[in-house]
Amino acid sequence: MKMTALKMYDPQIYELINQEEARQSGTLRMIPSENYVSKAVMEATGSCLTNKYAEGYPGKRYYEGQQVTDLIETLAIERGKKIFKADHCNVQAYSGSVANLAVYNGLIEPGDTLMGLSLTDGGHLTHGWKVSITSRIYKSVSYKVRPDTGLLDFNEIEDLAKKHKPKLIISGATAYPREIDFTKFEAIAKKVGAYHVSDIAHISGLVVAGIHMSPVPYSDVVSTTTHKTLRGPRGGLLLSKQEHADKIDKAIFPGQQGGPHMHTITAIAVALAEADTPEFMAYARQIVKNSKRLASKLMEVGFNLVTGGTDNHLILMDLRNRNIPGKKFAKALDRARIVTNYNTIPGDTAPPANPSGLRIGTPAITSRGMKEDQMDIIAGFMNRVAENIDNESVIEQVEKEALMLCSMFPIPEHFIIQHREN
Ligand SMILES: *Cc1c(COP(=O)(O)O)cnc(C)c1O
Repeated sequence: MKMTALKMYDPQIYELINQEEARQSGTLRMIPSENYVSKAVMEATGSCLTNKYAEGYPGKRYYEGQQVTDLIETLAIERGKKIFKADHCNVQAYSGSVANLAVYNGLIEPGDTLMGLSLTDGGHLTHGWKVSITSRIYKSVSYKVRPDTGLLDFNEIEDLAKKHKPKLIISGATAYPREIDFTKFEAIAKKVGAYHVSDIAHISGLVVAGIHMSPVPYSDVVSTTTHKTLRGPRGGLLLSKQEHADKIDKAIFPGQQGGPHMHTITAIAVALAEADTPEFMAYARQIVKNSKRLASKLMEVGFNLVTGGTDNHLILMDLRNRNIPGKKFAKALDRARIVTNYNTIPGDTAPPANPSGLRIGTPAITSRGMKEDQMDIIAGFMNRVAENIDNESVIEQVEKEALMLCSMFPIPEHFIIQHREN
């Protein structure tokens, strides 16, 4: 990036940004929640909209000077409603976590019970995990996946729902490699009179592309981040049925937030337009093709995968048969320029700080244009690191080859190249 003012004023930060840019370009970034945004999204994020206060909503602001911000936020809302086919869209949440808190805040009362997937089984902190504020404000019940299959167990979820009578049931996950049947959650929520909230932070890009079931028709509210498979700036998006529109908007502002981050909302508008293109659909399909290919190659070379594969952008590796702790493997891979995160696996007896699993994903490497052939190569890299976990010279050799692979797939400046008409 050209940053002449920054270079002059703060050479230290300028240099660090350059180092991070080099890292992002010279590593295989396989943390499934990360991606590369387009240059258009980056430009909008770094625009003058960062200078504007816009408390309120389009047409009902508490500050003047909203001639442009109203138009931008309205565009973002309309684009969000269009691609997710939702009645209502709120684009102001600062990120996924606060978006979730606002949903609870809008729909239920402190002390009410909510139910979500356990963090150790792939749920998010904000789904009521014990260290999250969501478990202090609300009573929290966690459901788990089946330890033998790694799959959601709808009988158990229904039993728990009948027993604890939650006011709100959360579907969606942060480390679940299979497609989620949101109709089953809706049916259970209906039976016990609970709201159904879907959190598609990870898979929203796949949902927009029609690859995974959309929860929008089957949920009271759908929450997503904008920066994972959706490939926008860091932010949150809430989609809801019309009947909840007012409650959701009020829960975000003034319930929880002050001024919205207009530069982020501007970039969200751009990302939503990008997601509404045939190129994005092809991108999302390739994410899943790559993930499936990577999964099958990893199994071929002797890795065990939770649920035996993947339907989406992520893979959860169970490293117990290779006798390598998750953290040790993640650190060795990082030295080999393959950036991942260690993760608990269902039924893990190891502590979350050093669990038995590794979570990887294909959104970022697919943005670089990598396809099935490169997945075979990456599976080979991972296997060589695992087989030589204490042999630094082999890890160094893999590092050189990974850098070579990165250099063959530079970060593209523009993902969506054709001119947009409106
Ligand atoms: C990433 C994630 C979030 C939180 O997003 P942040 O932007 O990191 O706050 C919420 N829910 C799920 C399922 C996630 O994966």
